[in-house]
Amino acid sequence: MSDLPHSIEDLKDEGHGARLTIDIGALVDNWRAMQKLSSPARCSAVVKADGYGLGAKTVSTALYQAGCRDFFVATAHEGVAVRQHAPEARIYVMNCILPGIEQICRVAELVPVLASMQDVAHWTSACAANGEHPCALQVDTGMNRLGLTVAEAVALSNDITRPAGFSPVLVMSHLACADVPDHPHNNKQLEAFRMVASSFGGIETSFSNSAGILLGADYKFDLTRPGIAIYGGAVGHHVKPRTKPVVTAETRIVTIRRAKRGETVSYGASVILDRDSRIAVCSIGYADGYLRALSGAGVVLRAHDERGAHGHAHGTNLPVLGRVTMDLTAFDITDIPDGMLKAGDFIELFGNNVALDDVARAGGTIGYELLTSLGSRYQRLYVNRSGED
Ligand SMILES: *Cc1c(COP(=O)(O)O)cnc(C)c1O
Repeated sequence: MSDLPHSIEDLKDEGHGARLTIDIGALVDNWRAMQKLSSPARCSAVVKADGYGLGAKTVSTALYQAGCRDFFVATAHEGVAVRQHAPEARIYVMNCILPGIEQICRVAELVPVLASMQDVAHWTSACAANGEHPCALQVDTGMNRLGLTVAEAVALSNDITRPAGFSPVLVMSHLACADVPDHPHNNKQLEAFRMVASSFGGIETSFSNSAGILLGADYKFDLTRPGIAIYGGAVGHHVKPRTKPVVTAETRIVTIRRAKRGETVSYGASVILDRDSRIAVCSIGYADGYLRALSGAGVVLRAHDERGAHGHAHGTNLPVLGRVTMDLTAFDITDIPDGMLKAGDFIELFGNNVALDDVARAGGTIGYELLTSLGSRYQRLYVNRSGED
């Protein structure tokens, strides 16, 4: 009896059906690798979307300790959270919603990335009223998402009547096709950004995400902005660098059942077993970001792989059988000797044995989406396994 937990509080880390093991050593190694590749430019870290789903607190703390002093977030709300773990860093807010976030930026010392002439007008009048505060400028060089047009940016840089409160510390742009190294769009954007950068002489410049860093020295400018590479995702079509896997996702087996050839599995009876099978029914589903498109069968609109995803245990790949459901997914464990897996054991969803990006591809998506969809039901273990040699 004395081993029983005392209260509900003691139980808050018990009873999970799945877990994420997040290797902080690998995360830091990946950032350092990007830092090396970025040199002589400085290397920031993009920690938006809760650090690509891995936990902005842990991620920004670890990278801050590793020496990172520039962080990018999407929203001011995220910026406030990161500020608490990166006291001396510069934190840029990319989705700058003006008017409205001036106070947050001042109190949390965040740098808003102005993305339109309207933003510039709002910001300069706020600075006229409340005093100078640094800002950054986003320029659209070919994505049509955020940013002043190149013409607007150049005109602004030449305007000697520019308001006194206007003090950009960074001019940035974002590549649309960096993951396809020989895409002609890359060079077009580079030419446009060069023009903008030279018109803002003396102000720091930032251009490249993870994939952009690999496009060569011309693409580095002063500050790089890697995201996915830090988190262990594949960097587009680039063969190198191989980032270290950071996250291992595993699910627990709820029950093991046997089914006969000719029987079907899961909703829609979309898979008909072609042999007598042993099935591990696991505590994972699309509510955990194990996307329905990863189903073994019964998904009409899947881009690439008609077979769906597989898990892994004991050196064996274990295909998903039938549809992924909200909380449960069936894996075919027939190829593993009877008795080797039992209820409560773990099956790897992705990690060292199953590449994150292979799972993503099986569901017709990208590693980014898989990571940022992970959800809140996992037990999260932070470890330091593969720290630098
Ligand atoms: C998300 C984002 C990045 C990081 O991109 P990765 O491909 O994850 O390296 C960099 N810059 C901007 C503007 C972004 O939105």
